[in-house]
Amino acid sequence: MKDINQQISVTLKALRQERGWSLDKAASETGVSKAMLGQIERGESSPTIATLWKIASGFQTSFSSFIEENEVDLTEPVRRAGQAQQLHPSDTKIRVMPLFPFDKELSFELFVIELLPGCEHLSPPHKHGVIEHVVVLKGKMEVLVNGHWQALDQGEGLRFNANQPHGYRNTTTKIACIHDIIHYPGKK
Ligand code: MN
Repeated sequence: MKDINQQISVTLKALRQERGWSLDKAASETGVSKAMLGQIERGESSPTIATLWKIASGFQTSFSSFIEENEVDLTEPVRRAGQAQQLHPSDTKIRVMPLFPFDKELSFELFVIELLPGCEHLSPPHKHGVIEHVVVLKGKMEVLVNGHWQALDQGEGLRFNANQPHGYRNTTTKIACIHDIIHYPGKK
Protein backbone atom coordinates (compact mmCIF):
# COMPACT_ATOMS: atom_id res chain seq x y z
CA MET A 1 0.00 0.00 0.00
CA LYS A 2 2.76 2.43 0.98
CA ASP A 3 4.76 1.45 -2.07
CA ILE A 4 1.86 2.13 -4.38
CA ASN A 5 1.25 5.58 -2.90
CA GLN A 6 4.90 6.41 -3.29
CA GLN A 7 4.88 5.19 -6.88
CA ILE A 8 1.81 7.32 -7.61
CA SER A 9 3.42 10.39 -6.05
CA VAL A 10 6.71 9.96 -7.92
CA THR A 11 4.96 9.25 -11.24
CA LEU A 12 2.66 12.26 -10.96
CA LYS A 13 5.56 14.58 -10.17
CA ALA A 14 7.60 13.20 -13.08
CA LEU A 15 4.71 13.50 -15.53
CA ARG A 16 3.95 17.06 -14.54
CA GLN A 17 7.61 18.00 -14.86
CA GLU A 18 7.92 16.24 -18.23
CA ARG A 19 4.87 18.07 -19.57
CA GLY A 20 5.89 21.34 -17.96
CA TRP A 21 2.42 21.63 -16.43
CA SER A 22 1.68 23.83 -13.43
CA LEU A 23 -0.66 22.45 -10.77
CA ASP A 24 -3.36 24.72 -12.25
CA LYS A 25 -2.86 23.25 -15.72
CA ALA A 26 -2.82 19.67 -14.34
CA ALA A 27 -6.03 20.39 -12.40
CA SER A 28 -7.83 21.66 -15.49
CA GLU A 29 -6.63 18.74 -17.64
CA THR A 30 -7.56 16.05 -15.11
CA GLY A 31 -10.59 17.50 -13.37
CA VAL A 32 -8.88 16.79 -10.03
CA SER A 33 -8.44 19.79 -7.74
CA LYS A 34 -5.11 21.52 -7.43
CA ALA A 35 -5.16 20.94 -3.66
CA MET A 36 -5.72 17.20 -4.11
CA LEU A 37 -2.98 16.91 -6.77
CA GLY A 38 -0.55 18.73 -4.46
CA GLN A 39 -1.43 16.40 -1.58
CA ILE A 40 -0.92 13.33 -3.76
CA GLU A 41 2.46 14.59 -4.97
CA ARG A 42 3.59 15.24 -1.40
CA GLY A 43 2.39 11.80 -0.36
CA GLU A 44 -0.12 13.33 2.05
CA SER A 45 -3.12 11.81 0.34
CA SER A 46 -3.75 8.78 -1.85
CA PRO A 47 -6.20 8.85 -4.75
CA THR A 48 -9.17 6.52 -5.08
CA ILE A 49 -9.29 4.37 -8.21
CA ALA A 50 -11.77 6.81 -9.79
CA THR A 51 -9.50 9.80 -9.06
CA LEU A 52 -6.42 7.99 -10.31
CA TRP A 53 -8.26 7.24 -13.56
CA LYS A 54 -9.05 10.94 -13.98
CA ILE A 55 -5.37 11.74 -13.50
CA ALA A 56 -4.24 9.04 -15.93
CA SER A 57 -6.77 10.15 -18.57
CA GLY A 58 -5.92 13.83 -18.14
CA PHE A 59 -2.24 13.11 -18.67
CA GLN A 60 -3.16 10.75 -21.53
CA THR A 61 -1.22 7.97 -19.92
CA SER A 62 -2.00 4.47 -18.69
CA PHE A 63 -3.42 3.60 -15.29
CA SER A 64 -0.83 0.95 -14.55
CA SER A 65 2.12 3.32 -15.06
CA PHE A 66 1.13 4.84 -11.69
CA ILE A 67 1.44 1.44 -10.05
CA GLU A 68 4.39 -0.18 -11.73
CA GLU A 69 7.06 0.61 -14.29
CA ASN A 70 7.23 -1.95 -17.06
CA GLU A 71 10.06 -2.20 -19.51
CA VAL A 72 9.08 -4.84 -22.01
CA ASP A 73 11.51 -7.11 -23.76
CA LEU A 74 9.40 -8.61 -26.53
CA THR A 75 11.98 -11.29 -27.27
CA GLU A 76 11.57 -13.04 -23.95
CA PRO A 77 8.54 -14.77 -22.47
CA VAL A 78 7.31 -13.08 -19.30
CA ARG A 79 5.57 -15.09 -16.63
CA ARG A 80 3.67 -13.23 -13.96
CA ALA A 81 1.13 -13.94 -11.29
CA GLY A 82 -0.20 -11.87 -8.48
CA GLN A 83 -2.95 -11.01 -6.14
CA ALA A 84 -5.37 -8.18 -6.83
CA GLN A 85 -5.11 -5.66 -4.02
CA GLN A 86 -7.06 -2.85 -2.46
CA LEU A 87 -5.59 0.44 -3.68
CA HIS A 88 -7.37 2.91 -1.41
CA PRO A 89 -9.08 2.63 1.99
CA SER A 90 -12.41 3.79 0.55
CA ASP A 91 -12.32 1.36 -2.39
CA THR A 92 -13.45 -1.47 -0.15
CA LYS A 93 -15.15 -3.70 -2.71
CA ILE A 94 -12.75 -3.63 -5.62
CA ARG A 95 -9.22 -4.99 -5.86
CA VAL A 96 -6.93 -4.33 -8.79
CA MET A 97 -3.54 -5.47 -10.02
CA PRO A 98 -1.85 -5.02 -13.38
CA LEU A 99 -0.96 -8.54 -14.47
CA PHE A 100 0.78 -7.05 -17.49
CA PRO A 101 1.44 -3.33 -16.91
CA PHE A 102 1.25 -0.89 -19.80
CA ASP A 103 3.20 -2.11 -22.80
CA LYS A 104 4.43 0.84 -24.86
CA GLU A 105 5.02 -1.24 -28.00
CA LEU A 106 1.63 -2.90 -28.05
CA SER A 107 -0.31 -0.09 -26.34
CA PHE A 108 -2.22 -2.15 -23.82
CA GLU A 109 -2.36 -3.09 -20.16
CA LEU A 110 -4.04 -6.09 -18.59
CA PHE A 111 -5.57 -5.94 -15.11
CA VAL A 112 -6.80 -8.62 -12.79
CA ILE A 113 -9.79 -7.14 -10.99
CA GLU A 114 -11.76 -8.65 -8.13
CA LEU A 115 -15.28 -7.36 -7.53
CA LEU A 116 -16.54 -8.21 -4.07
CA PRO A 117 -20.26 -8.87 -3.47
CA GLY A 118 -22.16 -5.58 -3.71
CA CYS A 119 -19.41 -3.80 -5.60
CA GLU A 120 -20.54 -1.10 -8.02
CA HIS A 121 -17.63 0.78 -9.49
CA LEU A 122 -18.23 3.57 -12.00
CA SER A 123 -15.42 4.71 -14.26
CA PRO A 124 -15.06 8.12 -15.84
CA PRO A 125 -14.77 8.11 -19.65
CA HIS A 126 -11.30 7.47 -21.00
CA LYS A 127 -9.89 9.28 -24.03
CA HIS A 128 -11.39 8.70 -27.46
CA GLY A 129 -10.22 5.43 -28.96
CA VAL A 130 -9.57 3.64 -25.67
CA ILE A 131 -11.07 0.13 -25.85
CA GLU A 132 -11.66 -2.28 -22.98
CA HIS A 133 -12.08 -6.04 -23.18
CA VAL A 134 -13.63 -7.50 -20.04
CA VAL A 135 -13.40 -11.28 -19.58
CA VAL A 136 -14.99 -13.03 -16.59
CA LEU A 137 -12.63 -15.56 -15.04
CA LYS A 138 -14.71 -16.45 -12.00
CA GLY A 139 -18.25 -15.71 -10.87
CA LYS A 140 -20.75 -13.40 -12.57
CA MET A 141 -20.75 -9.65 -13.00
CA GLU A 142 -22.25 -6.82 -15.03
CA VAL A 143 -20.71 -4.10 -17.14
CA LEU A 144 -22.37 -0.71 -17.67
CA VAL A 145 -22.08 0.23 -21.33
CA ASN A 146 -24.25 2.59 -23.40
CA GLY A 147 -26.36 3.20 -20.30
CA HIS A 148 -27.25 -0.47 -19.74
CA TRP A 149 -25.91 -3.04 -17.31
CA GLN A 150 -24.96 -6.13 -19.32
CA ALA A 151 -24.70 -9.43 -17.45
CA LEU A 152 -21.65 -11.58 -18.07
CA ASP A 153 -21.18 -15.16 -16.91
CA GLN A 154 -17.94 -16.93 -16.22
CA GLY A 155 -16.06 -17.39 -19.50
CA GLU A 156 -17.85 -14.58 -21.30
CA GLY A 157 -16.26 -11.41 -22.58
CA LEU A 158 -17.37 -7.94 -23.63
CA ARG A 159 -15.54 -5.38 -25.70
CA PHE A 160 -16.55 -1.74 -25.64
CA ASN A 161 -15.46 1.80 -26.42
CA ALA A 162 -14.42 3.23 -23.08
CA ASN A 163 -14.72 6.92 -24.03
CA GLN A 164 -18.07 6.99 -22.23
CA PRO A 165 -19.13 6.60 -18.60
CA HIS A 166 -18.97 2.89 -17.81
CA GLY A 167 -18.95 0.63 -14.80
CA TYR A 168 -18.50 -2.79 -13.28
CA ARG A 169 -20.70 -4.37 -10.62
CA ASN A 170 -21.28 -7.59 -8.76
CA THR A 171 -24.84 -8.12 -7.53
CA THR A 172 -24.19 -11.72 -6.45
CA THR A 173 -23.07 -12.99 -3.04
CA LYS A 174 -19.82 -14.43 -4.38
CA ILE A 175 -16.63 -12.73 -5.46
CA ALA A 176 -16.20 -12.15 -9.19
CA CYS A 177 -12.80 -12.04 -10.86
CA ILE A 178 -12.18 -10.51 -14.28
CA HIS A 179 -9.45 -9.62 -16.68
CA ASP A 180 -9.69 -6.12 -18.14
CA ILE A 181 -7.52 -5.50 -21.17
CA ILE A 182 -7.28 -1.79 -21.93
CA HIS A 183 -6.01 -0.75 -25.33
CA TYR A 184 -4.83 2.79 -26.00
CA PRO A 185 -4.78 4.07 -29.56
CA GLY A 186 -1.73 5.45 -31.29
CA LYS A 187 0.58 5.30 -28.29
CA LYS A 188 4.26 4.63 -28.62
MN1 MN B 1 -12.44 1.92 -17.56
